[in-house]
Amino acid sequence: MAGRIHDEDIAAVRERIRIDDVVGDFVALRNAGGGSLKGLCPFHDEKTPSFTVTPSRGFFYCFGCGEGGDVFTFLQKQQNLGFTEAVQTLADRSGIQLRITDDGTGQPPGLRKRILEANAAAEEFFRSQLGSPEAIEARRFLDQRGFDRAVALHFGLGYAPKHGRMLRQALQAQGFDDATLKAAGLIRDGGRDFFSGRLLWPIRDSGQSVLGFGARRIHDDDRLPAKYINTPETAVYKKSQVLYGLDFARQPIGKRSQAVVVEGYTDVMAAHLAGVDTAVASCGTAFGDDHARLLQRLMGTTDGLHGEVIFTFDGDKAGQNAALKVFKGDQNFIAQTYVAVEPSGLDPCDLRLEHGDAAVRELVGRRVPLYRFVMENVIKSYDLDRADGRLAALRESSDLISAIRDSSLISQYLRELAGMLGMDIEDVRHEVSRKQRGGASSSQRRPEPEESSTDDVDPAWPNPGDPALRLERDTLKLMLQYPLTFDAAWNGVVIEDFTHPGYQAVFRLIRDTPLVEGWGDALRENTSSEVLTQLLVSLLVEPLLREPDEVYSLAHSSRLRLARTVRRIAQCKSRLQRTDPVKDPTSHRSQFAELTALEMERKRLLSVSAGE
Ligand code: ZN
Repeated sequence: MAGRIHDEDIAAVRERIRIDDVVGDFVALRNAGGGSLKGLCPFHDEKTPSFTVTPSRGFFYCFGCGEGGDVFTFLQKQQNLGFTEAVQTLADRSGIQLRITDDGTGQPPGLRKRILEANAAAEEFFRSQLGSPEAIEARRFLDQRGFDRAVALHFGLGYAPKHGRMLRQALQAQGFDDATLKAAGLIRDGGRDFFSGRLLWPIRDSGQSVLGFGARRIHDDDRLPAKYINTPETAVYKKSQVLYGLDFARQPIGKRSQAVVVEGYTDVMAAHLAGVDTAVASCGTAFGDDHARLLQRLMGTTDGLHGEVIFTFDGDKAGQNAALKVFKGDQNFIAQTYVAVEPSGLDPCDLRLEHGDAAVRELVGRRVPLYRFVMENVIKSYDLDRADGRLAALRESSDLISAIRDSSLISQYLRELAGMLGMDIEDVRHEVSRKQRGGASSSQRRPEPEESSTDDVDPAWPNPGDPALRLERDTLKLMLQYPLTFDAAWNGVVIEDFTHPGYQAVFRLIRDTPLVEGWGDALRENTSSEVLTQLLVSLLVEPLLREPDEVYSLAHSSRLRLARTVRRIAQCKSRLQRTDPVKDPTSHRSQFAELTALEMERKRLLSVSAGE
C-alpha cells in the first residue's frame, strides 16, 4: 500500500483500538495499580516485569530497556512493520476503512505484510481443497485419529493438491506475484508449489496471523520421504520461535500460567479437544530457549513461582534425551518445568483415541518436576544396592546439579537426590560443591540463612560486619535507640523475621520488656546471660547511619518482614513442587493458596519498604 493515510483516519484508529488489547496478544498483562498494567517486556529478556501499559494514555513503556510509545509503535516493533502497515493492520482489526492519498512514491507495501496476506489467501485455498476427491487419503488420516469434519474446520486444516501448480495459479489470480509467493515460502524456485499432495496445518502467531504451514506425508508416491515438512525460514516464519496451537492456547496460557508442550500437530488438536487448552507444539524443530521465553512472556510469570510448563515425553530413551536437553537449556526455566510421562508410551493423540478425553487430562495431571525425572533416569542405570553403584550414580547426577545457578533450587535437589540414593545429604552436598569448584568460577553464591551452619562464630554472637545480617542488626539498633519511631506492636515484626539466634534473643527481650523510663537498664536487668548483655549494649551504642524517623523505621521493619516472606515463598514453592496434585489435591490446593497469599504479602511489603 503506497501513499499517505489521512490524519483523521489515524486518529480514528487510535481511538477505536485499546492498546492493552493489542499488547495483550503478545504479553500477559497484570494489573499494576494506578490504572497501569504490567508484563514481561517483549523487547528484552527479563525475569521481573518492567514493561508497563497505561491504557488511559494509550502508551507503553519499559523501565528495563527504555522502549516505549503508542499502539502503532508497539506493533511496528513487535511485528517488524512500517508505520503505514501498523496503522493498516489495526484499521483492519477495528473495521475502519482508511483513505489514502497517493504520495507518488509508488512503494510496494512492506514485505511482511505481503507475506501474511499471501499466507492468509493460501490457507483459504488449502482449506477449500480438503473436501476435494483427491484429498480422501487426508480425510481418512484425520478420521482414523478421531478428528471429524467440524474439527478439521475448527483447526483450519487444509490439503495441498498433487498437481503442483494450483496454489500459484489461484494466488496469481488474486494478484499475488511470484516474488511474494517465493518470499512466503509458498512456491519453490522454478515456480512449483512448495507443498503438494500433503495434509496441511496452518501455523499462526498469538495474534492469529498465519506464519506458515506444517505438512504431513499422505500419499505413498510422495517424492519427499520426510513424514513432516514445514514452511522454510521466511521473514515471518522462524522455526525457533513459532509454536503450533498458540492461536488457541494464548489466552488460557495467560489465564492459568500453564503451558503444555506436546510433540506434534495431532497431539495439540487432541489435547485441546480433551480440554487441555494450553497445549502447543514446536514445529519441525526441538523445543528451544526462544520457545521457552515466548511461553514465559505469555504466562507473565516473573520468577518461576506460578508458571508451569509441562512437557509430554515418551518414557523411552528419546524422551529422556529430550528432557535432558530442556534441563540443560534456559536456566530461568528450570524451577517451573514439569514432565508428564505416559507409561504406555502413547502420545496424547493415541491416548485420546484409545482411552478418551479424560486420559489426556490425567496424563497432564500426573506431571512431575523435570529435574526429578532427569535425575531418576540417570540413577536408574546404576545398581544402588552396591556402594560403588551409588557413588557412580552420585557422580553423574551431581554433574547435573552443579550446573544449576539458583542456590535455593540446589538445596532442594540435594535433599531429593540424597533420598533417591539413600545417602547422607552432607556427602551429596560435598560431592556437588567439589564439582562446582572444579568447574568455572561459579562459587560466589551466598548460602540461604538456614544453611549457614558452617559459621564458626558463637551462635549468640553474630559477626557485626556480616552483610547478610546487616538489616537485622540495623533494625534492632533502631528499635533499641529510637523505640518511639515504631508503633506499639513493633510494626508487626516477629521473632521469626530474625535468622540469627543472637538477634532473635535480643528481639525477644525488646518485645517482652515494657517501654518505660530508663528502658536500657530495664532491658539489661531482664537477662542474666553475659553474652546477650554484651550484644545488647553494643547495639544500644553503635552509631546509626542517620537520624531516624518513623518512615525510616517502617522501611526497615518492612524490609525485614519482606526478607522472611521471600524465604517462606521459597519453602512453600519447594513443598508445592514435591506435592502430587492428583494424589493429594487438597494439600496441593491449600499450598497454592498459601503461595498466592505470600506473593500478595510480598508485593505489599515491597511497596511499603520502597517508601523510605
Ligand atoms: Zn524492555
